[in-house]
Amino acid sequence: MISFEFSQDQKQFAKVLRDFSTKELLPHYTARAASTEFPYDAFGKLGDLGVLGIGLPEKFGGTGEEDPVLLGLATEVLAAGDINLASAPIQVGLVGSQLLHSSDEVQERYLPTLIAGKETLAIALTEPGSGSDASALRTTATPVEGGWRLNGEKTAISWAMNAAATLVYARTPGTTRSQGVSCFLVPMDAPGVGRRQMLGMGCLPIGWGSIHLDNVFIPHSHLVGEEGRGFRSVMSHFDFSRAAIGLMCLGAARQSLDEAVAYSQQRETFGHPISTYQGVSFGIAEQATLVEAARLLCYKALWLRETDQPHTSLASMSKWWPPQVARQAIEVAMRIHGNLGYAAEFPHQARYRDVMAYLVAADGSAEIQKRIIAGDIYTRGTVGY
Ligand SMILES: Cc1cc2nc3c(=O)[nH]c(=O)nc-3n(C[C@H](O)[C@H](O)[C@H](O)COP(=O)(O)OP(=O)(O)OC[C@H]3O[C@@H](n4cnc5c(N)ncnc54)[C@H](O)[C@@H]3O)c2cc1C
Repeated sequence: MISFEFSQDQKQFAKVLRDFSTKELLPHYTARAASTEFPYDAFGKLGDLGVLGIGLPEKFGGTGEEDPVLLGLATEVLAAGDINLASAPIQVGLVGSQLLHSSDEVQERYLPTLIAGKETLAIALTEPGSGSDASALRTTATPVEGGWRLNGEKTAISWAMNAAATLVYARTPGTTRSQGVSCFLVPMDAPGVGRRQMLGMGCLPIGWGSIHLDNVFIPHSHLVGEEGRGFRSVMSHFDFSRAAIGLMCLGAARQSLDEAVAYSQQRETFGHPISTYQGVSFGIAEQATLVEAARLLCYKALWLRETDQPHTSLASMSKWWPPQVARQAIEVAMRIHGNLGYAAEFPHQARYRDVMAYLVAADGSAEIQKRIIAGDIYTRGTVGY
């Protein structure tokens, strides 16, 4: 039969994170969300709590084996306090899982500080001319004595402005599509590396920006994974990190709905709390239903990964639909708060803008997820899972 229970360990960890999220993150979320400063303090505390090392080796400070459900649970819980900080365990997991295929020198230099929340590392795949069609990237890695010279531009990169180093995907000149693409660890202070801030409608603290590579020398020791096969490992982790992103958006939405429940019980119009009007309470009921359905989808995707079953389609479903559900739920919560829902001192407007990043493009657009799902359905000839 089926079980929707988290394990005792998962529940305990979630409780610690929920306390931290409610007491330390939530009270300052609105201020942090309005600033482009990277929240190093809070990021360090995530490191202290052990949440940045989920699924990464213990010798570097991680929890050990891959634990997709725990990653999802952690991001969901943290997002109630701060969705931007909740993205950190996902980003660290994406970077860390790839660094495990790099030299000892690189692993020892970067993994402990990343997992401890002392340094950030970015992932630079997108370019001005290639996003969804990532394998059309043009950044080159030309072999030279002792390593490579990298030239090109990356854009829309999370953590670009604060990263100590970045995973850069670049191709051997003369190759096309995914063939000949390798991944390199590029220290951001290497000669020839430049960065420029980009401002989005939300997600300001994540240090979104572009990275310029002008004849940057990268030694052999900084190759990540196999030469010419750089796409493989990043795509394998995207496979389940997408479900954690869905839960992150839903965690923020649930918080807005809970705040709307509390507010609607104390705000009175026409002599009654507005919660007594079905025009208000049914909105909450509808959004709660959708949020719960979307959560179950995400957790199923993570459970499939955990139990070694095919999960790519469900991970893609968890990336396109839950952010939409979350945006809609936050909008309902904003409306229940009336003018306060729109006010900058309340968190709903910030959550709305932050969630939009994942709905529009971050980690792949909705259309690209639907392409993956449709491809899988037509290969198997059924919509059943
Ligand atoms: C907040 C944020 C953070 C990000 N962080 C990073 C990061 O850390 N690292 C990184 O490398 N990138 C990052 N990105 C970039 C992101 O991965 C890309 O924006 C995304 O892959 C889409 O690429 P694009 O913006 O070039 O859009 P395009 O690929 O040009 O797509 C434009 C539109 O066309 C649609 N479209 C494209 N192809 C098809 C198709 N075949 N069928 C149907 N519709 C299609 C898309 O869905 C979209 O609506 C980030 C983006 C955001 C917004």
